[in-house]
Amino acid sequence: VKKAAGSYSKESSKIAHSAVLGAGIMGGGIAYQSASKGTPIIMKDIRPEALDLGMNEASKLFGKQVERGKLTTDKAMTALGKITPVLTYGEFSNVDMVVEAVVENPKVKQSVLAETESQISDDAVLASNTSTISINLLASALKRPENFCGMHFFNPVHRMPLVEVIRGEKTSDATIAKTVAYAQALGKTPIVVNDCPGFLVNRVLFPYFAGFSALLRDGADYQNVDKVMEKFGWPMGPAYLLDVVGIDTAFHADQVMAEGFPDRMGHEGTNAIDCFYEAGRYGQKTSQGFYQYE
Ligand code: NAD
Repeated sequence: VKKAAGSYSKESSKIAHSAVLGAGIMGGGIAYQSASKGTPIIMKDIRPEALDLGMNEASKLFGKQVERGKLTTDKAMTALGKITPVLTYGEFSNVDMVVEAVVENPKVKQSVLAETESQISDDAVLASNTSTISINLLASALKRPENFCGMHFFNPVHRMPLVEVIRGEKTSDATIAKTVAYAQALGKTPIVVNDCPGFLVNRVLFPYFAGFSALLRDGADYQNVDKVMEKFGWPMGPAYLLDVVGIDTAFHADQVMAEGFPDRMGHEGTNAIDCFYEAGRYGQKTSQGFYQYE
């Protein structure tokens, strides 16, 4: 008998305590979004300086809400207090939901996910914010793959409404229901998609980046391409977008896409993303990518 999505009560799907692994661009953004919508969140990283950056970013975003008159200073401080920065798994036994947002590397993710699974309760949901890596591949490192799925936010988290919820072969309906409920509690629009490299959005976005790289190889100027795409009506062009995403993240994601779809995404020799990656110019996070940042 097919179970209707509505057969999971809202109460049983509610996430009261969450956690995020990684305090980078995405982890910091997810922590801010959860705290601003009232769900307490533990933010774990392995580097104290990453936690400081993540907290500063959240603090700046709450500050903007105060400037715009959308929050009082007291309410902003209370909301910021809902983020607990940590370096250890101390309080993870109490969380209902963990979103992993560490580097886009299958081996690192598998090891972090397995380590986290051993620290959380048997019914807590574990989700990965991976941009491209197969959920089934990540699930193969877990003892409870039924409690695991993808929860793919977009950058910047506080502005982008979409969240892809990715169902792996072994993901249970209850896990999907809880993840959808958490996305909605965060004010997002979840869509449930099947597993494959890049899911839905990045199967559209990465061929676009590949087209951009091919244009550069043919002699186009990246600043001109950015201007043209802005005139076309997109909020930013591909070079600036790569700087915002992080060229290290784009590089790892590009490799997964090339392996997953060699006929469409594979490329011989180096492309623009490879060149910037090799030069250590990761975009805004290193103050240098296609553009320079203060
Ligand atoms: P980032 O480089 O900004 O941050 C990664 C963070 O993970 C760093 O602070 C690092 O110290 C931390 N980290 C590494 N190993 C860890 C561990 N074992 N435990 C805890 N923290 C650890 O990267 P990001 O852009 O935030 O990307 C994170 C994930 O989100 C990646 O899987 C990426 O593909 C995905 N993603 C990124 C974007 C984007 O636009 N940047 C969008 C959607 C999804």
